[in-house]
Parts: sequence; C-alpha cells; structure tokens
Amino acid sequence: MKAPSTQLQARLDDVRGRIAAAERRAGRSPGCVTLVAVVKTVGAELIAEALSAGVTDLGENRVQEAEQHQQALGRDGARWHMIGPLQRNKAGRALERFDLVHGVESAAVAAALARRAVDLGKLARVLVQVNVSGEASKHGVTPESTPALLDAIRDIPGLSVEGLMTVGAPVERAADARPEFVRLRALRDRVAAGLGLALPQLSMGMSGDYEVAVEEGSTLVRVGTAIFGARG
Ligand SMILES: *Cc1c(COP(=O)(O)O)cnc(C)c1O
Repeated sequence: MKAPSTQLQARLDDVRGRIAAAERRAGRSPGCVTLVAVVKTVGAELIAEALSAGVTDLGENRVQEAEQHQQALGRDGARWHMIGPLQRNKAGRALERFDLVHGVESAAVAAALARRAVDLGKLARVLVQVNVSGEASKHGVTPESTPALLDAIRDIPGLSVEGLMTVGAPVERAADARPEFVRLRALRDRVAAGLGLALPQLSMGMSGDYEVAVEEGSTLVRVGTAIFGARG
C-alpha cells in the first residue's frame, strides 16, 4: 500500500488532534467520534494513501463514484458512507456499496433500501437528513416533519434507523454553526424519547465547523477539504 505523503499525514494528524481536543473539552469519551473522510472528487491514489494512514471511514455523495473507487481499491478496506442525496431508483445500487446511508429524506427511499437489504440478507443502516437551517437549497425534511417520517419507517423490515444528519448552512465563523448543531441534537433527543427509539448517531460537522459539532454531540464528522485540500 502506498505510504501517505507527509502533507496528507500532517493534515490527518491535525484533524484527529482537533477532534480529540473537542471530545475532551466537551467531556466526551475519547474516540467516540468517527472521522468520515469525504472523498468526492478525490482520486483513487490519494484515497489509498488515506487508507494507509489509518482512515477507516470514507464518504461519497455519488453511487457511481463509489462503484469506481471500490473497483480500484476493493470494497473491504473501509466503511463507506453515502452522504449525498439519494434517488429511489439508485437505492439498490447504493445499498450494495455503502455501509451507512446518511441522506434519507423519504419513506420511499428507505423502503427501497430495505427491500434490497432483505434480498441480500443484510440490514440497511440509515440516517434521516434534516434541514435544520431551513435554507431552500438544502436537502432534508423539516424538523417538524421528522417525527412522522421516523415513525413511518421505524418498523420496515431490513431497515435500521440509527440517527439524524444535517448539512449546515455555510457560516463565516465556526461558532455560528453551533445553534444548528444544538437544534439537531435537541430534535434527536426529543424524537428518540417520544418514539422510544435509540437514534445514537448524529452526523454533523464539516471542514469549517467539525470541532463545534463534536462539542455539541456529533458522532460522525464528514471532513473533505481539511484532509485532501480544496476541491478543483
Ligand atoms: C462535500 C461534503 C462534505 C465535506 O465538506 P468539506 O467542507 O470539504 O469538509 C460533508 N458533507 C457533505 C454532505 C458533503 O457534500
């Protein structure tokens, strides 16, 4: 396996150190946050370097890109996360390629993932995407309709609903993202208690604000630019 460049290694060390420091500041247990390295537009060679630097989780927002990467790199070296919007007609293919689908925003997509999972004898692990910021450009269900969607999909055979995900509005300073993260966590707490669901996962935080997200309870941070540099 190709050794990581010193630049990639330094960036990864920096991100990991910041996650660890944020866990400590928040009194959370060390290692409770998973770093998902977002590899959209990143070449297979650089992804291989990241894997040799100990990256365990990769995020992609397109099914076809994941298929290509997995053909080049193999399927078993990492956990793959689908972080982009998913159409129902791609759900079957996505289920084959991804260990966790973050962006579920309809019962129809959840059901399509679950059907394929049952065919394959596995579980479709999903998060429901919530549009906390209310920006029209963002995917996800509204906070108000989140309980109803979770209630509609909770008992679908083959489906494991494990938490919530959000893509924050772009902010100038990382601290400005904090209210959205607080709202997603509060929504999760409320819905979990109301429906009697566990919902352990909160996927929130990107390159610009992942430390704040960790302070506010994120369990999955999705970081691309801070690891691989700006996308071309
Ligand atoms: C691109 C992307 C990321 C990573 O963004 P960076 O700012 O490069 O860290 C995270 N989540 C989603 C849903 C994305 O599309």
